[in-house]
Amino acid sequence: MSRYDYDLYVIGAGSGGVRASRIAAGHGARVAICEDSRVGGTCVIRGCVPKKLMSYAAHYAEDFEDATGFGWQVGAVQFDWPAFLQRKNAEIDRLNRIYLQLLANSGVTLYEGRGQLVDAHTVEVNGKRYTAEKILIAVGGRPVKPDFPGHEHTLTSDDIFYIETLPQRMVVIGGGYIAVEFAGIFNALGSEVHLLYRGEQILRGFDADVRRVLAREMAAKGVHIHLHTEVQSVDKNGEALHVHLNTGESLSVDTVLCATGRTPRTEELGLDRAGVYVNEKGEIPVDHNSRTNVANIFAVGDVTGRIALTPVAIKEGHAFADTQFGSNPWCPNHENVPSAVFSQPPVASVGLTEGEAHTLSESLDVYISEFRPMKHTLSGREEKTLMKLIVCHDSDRVLGCHMVGPDAPEIIQGVAIAIQCGATKAQFDATVGIHPTAAEELVTMRTPTRSGH
Ligand code: NDP
Repeated sequence: MSRYDYDLYVIGAGSGGVRASRIAAGHGARVAICEDSRVGGTCVIRGCVPKKLMSYAAHYAEDFEDATGFGWQVGAVQFDWPAFLQRKNAEIDRLNRIYLQLLANSGVTLYEGRGQLVDAHTVEVNGKRYTAEKILIAVGGRPVKPDFPGHEHTLTSDDIFYIETLPQRMVVIGGGYIAVEFAGIFNALGSEVHLLYRGEQILRGFDADVRRVLAREMAAKGVHIHLHTEVQSVDKNGEALHVHLNTGESLSVDTVLCATGRTPRTEELGLDRAGVYVNEKGEIPVDHNSRTNVANIFAVGDVTGRIALTPVAIKEGHAFADTQFGSNPWCPNHENVPSAVFSQPPVASVGLTEGEAHTLSESLDVYISEFRPMKHTLSGREEKTLMKLIVCHDSDRVLGCHMVGPDAPEIIQGVAIAIQCGATKAQFDATVGIHPTAAEELVTMRTPTRSGH
């Protein structure tokens, strides 16, 4: 008989925590999980899933326009934001119920409330204490706002999913994933969108050609991108928000979205009482088995400051549970993690950017293709797709693949398998294309656009 109430207590029922608890329970562990918001976490409740539904909704705007080029006569169309919100919220409720069911079916006990560590083996939820042999921290993160005067009048991604009316004029602050995704969505839905980014080009960290092409295509669709621009203050006057910029300009809008990054939710978790080390960014550093500096306490997902992506958190949670409670230990892979930005048009990438590959002083062959996809011959749209392969000249291995254009996330997922397997450019070339597609360009690029160090 164990001297603990549970074998595993998980704090946070998002993607990583739910996966870990279900897998651990499947291995026979007695598992509890606590959650202070809704089971499903950021991805399901206020992140990837509702955002993707909004992105689908937004895409219809262009589909209706493009249809006329193919002979359709589309009558007056109108977007009904409250109707969409109701359907989106119903879908999130459905997924939340599925997550609750999954936990119940796995035999995991759910406690609704914020968990706090009392010591290295004790978690307190709603004033009650539970002991566990192992504890997993999977509390994720929350959005942060810059500290300018008037920031209280602005929204974060947590709020934007529930606004009652579609903004007529909107400012989006930031140039990362969330900023470009929502700028594209609201622009397509009919809002006048001003994206304010403090740096010289949006999507820092992505390949330079990707950043250039996306910024160009977003601007062509009507997003006003203001580079080297920072907000100094926001005043509220009735319903209007006046956004004062470092450039001396002001913008009058009805909605301001801060998409300025996220921070781990490690405050008030009692980590100090258990002796868990937290770094200056509030992250919990872990080793390759997701173990913290305290031997029986582990952490997965955004709170660890590794890669803040749902599928990564899920892999970390799964590996943790198999390793600690099953008979098949393994480590999550943080190499060649593909990712997508559901911008309009979307971006997807896997492997190294050209800049990163150069810093490894590889001699490179870089293949770039920018073309107007077949659909736009009749739609009349000028939008171009970008495909880019970065190849090590000596080994012929494909080090990175980047795309901006329709279906980029769907296409790059397959390429990620090839890159994970160490595919060479010769193997890409030996692969037969599927015609007529945009994706066939990946196996038909013959001449490097540039070569060398
Ligand atoms: P990001 O870190 O991607 O981007 C934050 C942006 O805000 C950057 O452009 C940053 O500028 C800017 N910024 C930060 N602080 C300030 C400030 N004080 N004033 C002005 N601008 C500021 O964060 P997001 O919030 O967009 O997303 C968080 C994470 O969530 C992502 O990194 C990603 O891992 C994940 N995510 C993934 C998605 C997907 O897979 N499709 C979708 C959404 C989120 P600078 O570049 O100069 O630092």
